Amino acid sequence: MKLKIRQPIVTVCGHVDHGKTSILDRLRQSAVHKGEAGGITQKISFTVYPAENLKTACPLIEQSGIKLNIPGFLLIDTPGHAAFTNLRKRGGSLADLAVLVIDINEGIKPQTSEVIQILKHNKTPFIIALNKIDNIHGWKFNEKKGLKGNIESQAINAASDFREKYLTLMGSLQNYGLDSDLYYNIDDFTKKVALVPCSAKTSQGIPELILVLCGLSQKYLENRLTLGSEGKGVVLEIKRERDNSYLESIIYDGSLSKNDTIAIANLDGKPVLSKIRVLEEIMPVSDKFSPKEKVMAATGIRIQLKENDNVLPGMPFVVYHDNLKEIEALFKKELSENIKTDKQGIIVKADSLGSLEALLIILKQNNIPVLKAGIGRINKADMAGARANLEVNPLDSVILGFNVESEENIVSGVKIIADDVIYKLIENLIKFREEKRKEIEKTRLLGLSSLCKMALLKQYVFRNTNPAIFGVRVEGGKLIRGLHIIDNIGERVGKIKNRSGCLYLWNKL
Ligand code: GDP
Repeated sequence: MKLKIRQPIVTVCGHVDHGKTSILDRLRQSAVHKGEAGGITQKISFTVYPAENLKTACPLIEQSGIKLNIPGFLLIDTPGHAAFTNLRKRGGSLADLAVLVIDINEGIKPQTSEVIQILKHNKTPFIIALNKIDNIHGWKFNEKKGLKGNIESQAINAASDFREKYLTLMGSLQNYGLDSDLYYNIDDFTKKVALVPCSAKTSQGIPELILVLCGLSQKYLENRLTLGSEGKGVVLEIKRERDNSYLESIIYDGSLSKNDTIAIANLDGKPVLSKIRVLEEIMPVSDKFSPKEKVMAATGIRIQLKENDNVLPGMPFVVYHDNLKEIEALFKKELSENIKTDKQGIIVKADSLGSLEALLIILKQNNIPVLKAGIGRINKADMAGARANLEVNPLDSVILGFNVESEENIVSGVKIIADDVIYKLIENLIKFREEKRKEIEKTRLLGLSSLCKMALLKQYVFRNTNPAIFGVRVEGGKLIRGLHIIDNIGERVGKIKNRSGCLYLWNKL
């Protein structure tokens, strides 16, 4: 018996303004027959493209005689949000495939680099939509020739401009350890990243983009797409409508029925059980949902829970079958696997699990250790942690906040760096640490050049060793922490560790 295959889950990502939203819009428009488009107006987290709609969007599928055996695609539709590039499920990335959008005239930008690092870390196969080719000076497009024919028949200036740009990009991708080439030069898509030149503005290359996605999914993902029996999903967003809140979620494996009880992980990785009040599935190439008794992976759903306790975006859920212990172990493993921290380091907070994990991946690539990582607003405990770091390593007295606010007043000495773009957070953090390092070095050097003469007050010796604690009278110069002390004959006898009032700590008398 042939195993049932689910839709691949695809995410679109890339630097701001490179054209992610435009490509998604173009895909939707091309996937429905002219005049049929109901107009997608609401912002939904995903779009379902059944195989039939893919054939409409890409006549090349039938022309080239490809037999589509995937049931279609589920596209995650919230571009630009780190959390969505990095949505996770057990054992890897939620997305089976990604489309990295790069403006051909701009090349790799900070968010492109960030996305490449996340995709590589998660081992997510991806293709590159080399967008905005219509902006190449002198670029002409003849619809009858197809993309390859057009690329090969450009006038000399446009052809050399195009060639220079994509070769430069291929060179830059090499720096990330990635071999790439134009899609039609590639035999083995598992070895090279396919570049598909396109224009979301004119639709050039969009059918080829779909064709390459279909080809890749069929050829290389079949094992990954086999449908399991356990219903598993991830919450993408929580939306409020009147007094109800709905969880826009993806079922990525198995099935879910209206009568099921689900277990959703809370922040500590503990399962919270709830029955389902409303179960709805997204309709093909639409922003409308329809009520369902049962849904099958992979699809976009909207659920309303009977008991709804503080569900957070990015959290995994599974169908519950009296197996609480098993689910507890599963969630614990899943969350602790993804949020590994170090013995020392900074404190990190983010708005969802996906963005927190994305941030941790990028911090790791930049060799920045993390002591504590969590979801939610910056709170008292975070402040206390960062404050304690001042003593251990002042470079770590930082709280990094991704898309979160602080509910506490800033504690002196603690630095809060907040932003909703990961690369800006990292840039500011590196800058802060560099400045702090210089400041510490300057203080140390100043200390080295300080001189001080003092006399021991014998009646105030409280301890005489390890550390010695005693009072002194400063007779000249300035007494500061870190100074080495010499005796009357010039021998080193210790170092000042701390001072308060007239007490001086000395580690060796
Ligand atoms: P996003 O931030 O990556 O989602 O980018 P958008 O889709 O919002 O596009 C950013 C800008 O680039 C908008 O003004 C688009 O109209 C424009 N744009 C997107 N794709 C193309 C394209 O293929 N050609 C041209 N000329 N402009 C484009």
